[in-house]
Amino acid sequence: MTTQLDKELEAEVAKRRTFAIISHPDAGKTTLTEKLLLFGGAIRLAGTVKGRKASKHATSDWMEIEKQRGISVTSSVMQFDYEGHRVNILDTPGHQDFSEDTYRTLTAADSAVMLIDVAKGVEAQTKKLFQVCRLRGIPIFTFINKLDREGRDPFELLEELEEILGIRSYPMNWPIGSGKQFCGVYDRGKSQLELFQGDDHKHIEVRKVSGVDDPLVKSIAGDYLHSQLSQDIELLDVAGDPFDMEKVLKGELTPVFFGSAINNFGVQTFLENFLQLAPKPEPRNSNIGAIEPTKTNFSGYIFKIQANMNPAHRDRVAFLRIVSGKFSRGMSVRHIRAGKDIKLSQPQQFLAQDRDIVEEAYPGDIIGLFDPGIFRIGDSLSQGMEIVFDDLPSFSPELFSKVTVKNALKHKPFQKGIDQLTEEGTIQVFTTIGFEDMILGVVGQLQFEVLEHRMKNEYGVDIQLQRQNYQFARWLVDDKIDPGKFRINSQLVKDKKGNYVVLFESEYALRSAIDKNPTAKFLTNSP
Ligand code: GDP
Repeated sequence: MTTQLDKELEAEVAKRRTFAIISHPDAGKTTLTEKLLLFGGAIRLAGTVKGRKASKHATSDWMEIEKQRGISVTSSVMQFDYEGHRVNILDTPGHQDFSEDTYRTLTAADSAVMLIDVAKGVEAQTKKLFQVCRLRGIPIFTFINKLDREGRDPFELLEELEEILGIRSYPMNWPIGSGKQFCGVYDRGKSQLELFQGDDHKHIEVRKVSGVDDPLVKSIAGDYLHSQLSQDIELLDVAGDPFDMEKVLKGELTPVFFGSAINNFGVQTFLENFLQLAPKPEPRNSNIGAIEPTKTNFSGYIFKIQANMNPAHRDRVAFLRIVSGKFSRGMSVRHIRAGKDIKLSQPQQFLAQDRDIVEEAYPGDIIGLFDPGIFRIGDSLSQGMEIVFDDLPSFSPELFSKVTVKNALKHKPFQKGIDQLTEEGTIQVFTTIGFEDMILGVVGQLQFEVLEHRMKNEYGVDIQLQRQNYQFARWLVDDKIDPGKFRINSQLVKDKKGNYVVLFESEYALRSAIDKNPTAKFLTNSP
């Protein structure tokens, strides 16, 4: 029998879209986010988009270190409504010193928007973030930005998507000219022109046409640009991939949009198409199989923990992605790992200094839970079900430092700090064989800086970090392990759980170890 709650869940799930924007710094993520929020009437605009190049600090810059560097270390969530949809944008740090948080946040998204600078193409950080999305098989939508500037040939950019990222593409619209000559885009599906006009280039006009050879297109684009457009569209129609929704949903084909975020050009078209094509909240896997969002029992998992958002209170906030059921404030849920029931009484939906208390939330939404130290990354919460969601992946560190405490008398708080921060997933800890030295691994330099800062401020410990020359960590699985084999360009260590890990100085060192140890497996993640 269909209950009232079933109907409510069905409707709430159907209207939700939860996604993250992935890009390399400076591609225009802050700008695009701002424009998207504006379309939504920016119900939660205040302090969400970082004015990191401005002197004022946005309210999501909680930590001192963020203020000092004027960047956002942690991810927050922005929510807005647009034409019947409820949109959750997961914000990921845009700085090149990104961290594991960035990766983990992507596990809470159901799709991603990949933002690319038309002059730069696919850049290093885009590639890394893309690979994480690829692992999850989520749909990826591409927005090629800054068309108001001279950029690279659009075909060349599509080729790059395929060659570097291995994803095929379907341009939803196509630029007419670029830079100073940019006059707008031709929408392939709707056969219409969206024109970029006016002296300030801010006025946007939409004109219906019968096709690319409509006299109107010719008169607006001029002979040269028109013939170029007409050839391009023909080439796309004949030689390009056909639009295939199944492939889009599997992350094998990316719909591509061209625009200029700063001029608000192409953003609305993008948003409207995206909302139509992007998936609603997806099920998540657990020990009892996939949990559908419309299941009436509430469930969710913690994908990130942020400590000390308010230094005066030393509190922590755990970010929970709702997987199924309806959340209401004050409800009791089972904390599976801890084996006890807890009451969710002070949930915050939007995390900035003026935190909103949420009364109700649905699958796809992210809520912040006050955490007196009871949560860990990956914890499952649920109502009336003993379920454990699949482990969140941990990512292979790329930067390593030996850590020591400056004042030996502070060994206890030092150990406590390291233990807690490891538990939060801020760092990975390895110990060397024999000497029991502690080596920390991270994916971004900023994680070391945050660690130093937090050890001092939260645990009163000054630490010393000594950078090690390693670039890769591989979990070693072999019947017989001989530490003597890993002395040159590499080192054998153990992780927190006692698994063997080899740290390598170079790709070459890793390859030669693989060659010399045919029976061994070198895994990028812990087994
Ligand atoms: P983020 O680092 O990805 O968040 O990038 P920002 O949104 O801060 O943008 C980086 C720079 O690119 C800023 O100076 C923006 O004003 C500029 N920018 C963003 N979008 C556009 C665009 O469409 N055209 C041009 N010309 N500049 C843009």
